[in-house]
Amino acid sequence: MIRKIDKKTVGEALRAAYDHCKTESGGKNADYIPYLKNVAQNLFGIAACLPDGSLMTVGDTDFRFGIESVSKVPTALLAMEQYSDREVLHRIGADATGLPFNSIMAILLENDHPSTPLVNAGAIAACSMIKPVGDSSGKWRSIVDFLTALAGSPVEVIDELYRSESDTNFNNRSIAWLLKNYGRIYDDPMMALDLYTRQCSIGVTAAQLATVAATIANGGMNPLTHKQVFRPELTPRIASLMATVGFYEHTGDWLFQTGLPAKSGVGGGIMAVIPGVMGLAAFAPPLDTAGNSVKAQKALSFIAQRLDLNIFHTTRCVMAEPAPAEA
Ligand code: GLU
Repeated sequence: MIRKIDKKTVGEALRAAYDHCKTESGGKNADYIPYLKNVAQNLFGIAACLPDGSLMTVGDTDFRFGIESVSKVPTALLAMEQYSDREVLHRIGADATGLPFNSIMAILLENDHPSTPLVNAGAIAACSMIKPVGDSSGKWRSIVDFLTALAGSPVEVIDELYRSESDTNFNNRSIAWLLKNYGRIYDDPMMALDLYTRQCSIGVTAAQLATVAATIANGGMNPLTHKQVFRPELTPRIASLMATVGFYEHTGDWLFQTGLPAKSGVGGGIMAVIPGVMGLAAFAPPLDTAGNSVKAQKALSFIAQRLDLNIFHTTRCVMAEPAPAEA
């Protein structure tokens, strides 16, 4: 069954989700990165980007927050674009760990690969793969240029967040060296760690994240700039990674309830990809115990239900073609 929805219906769903969730007070800001602890708790925004380039927003969708783990998605895509999806599967893998995002135990248990580029270990391994290998500033340019192309607008590091993460990332340092020990890092480990830390410290808005999600949903064609950013066959690959591990040890619960491939970050952002239909993003800093924004989850789950966006549902939601202009 097909359900056609239009822009107006999407706008109403965003507004209703905002009203439904704005008083939600559960969760607390990440505090293991000092900068994140001090971000205003009541910020809240929701954005949708449609294949025709319409960007619909409600709330604090222009506030720049730390992209954090959502950055694992663009870098995994870039690695697949620079090498191939098979090479990323071979060197990193695609299995959910079922363990926290920064788990060292997961590396010890999976002794042949870091498991998936969407947890810290796999993301540091992905940074080590990014070309040009051996050239830190060249690699950084590749990462930033790729994210900018996905978002359709410039992004930059929040310096204070980068300093805050670099001063406290002891667990990630252990991960990088452990990967080196197992031959699962493909460049200098401390260079890979620094690139990973820097990419997590990039500031984005919810509107930008929705555009990144829409570019992925649109087979790599950015709906705002019309630029083809990556090969269309990578959309199902990255969407499947997001579906299997996007919320760490809460991923199964999320997928069961919403049916949305999505990725969260400890900065409070979540982006969801509905292939062929739209990109969604929500942002609110307080997190649940696994590190996923409480309010953003609630808002996206509300929208998924209202618009029948569950990708496993027998009703397939599609955007209606706009009516032809009057003569
Ligand atoms: N920079 C954070 C870390 O490595 C990202 C974690 C997340 O957003 O899940 O701990």
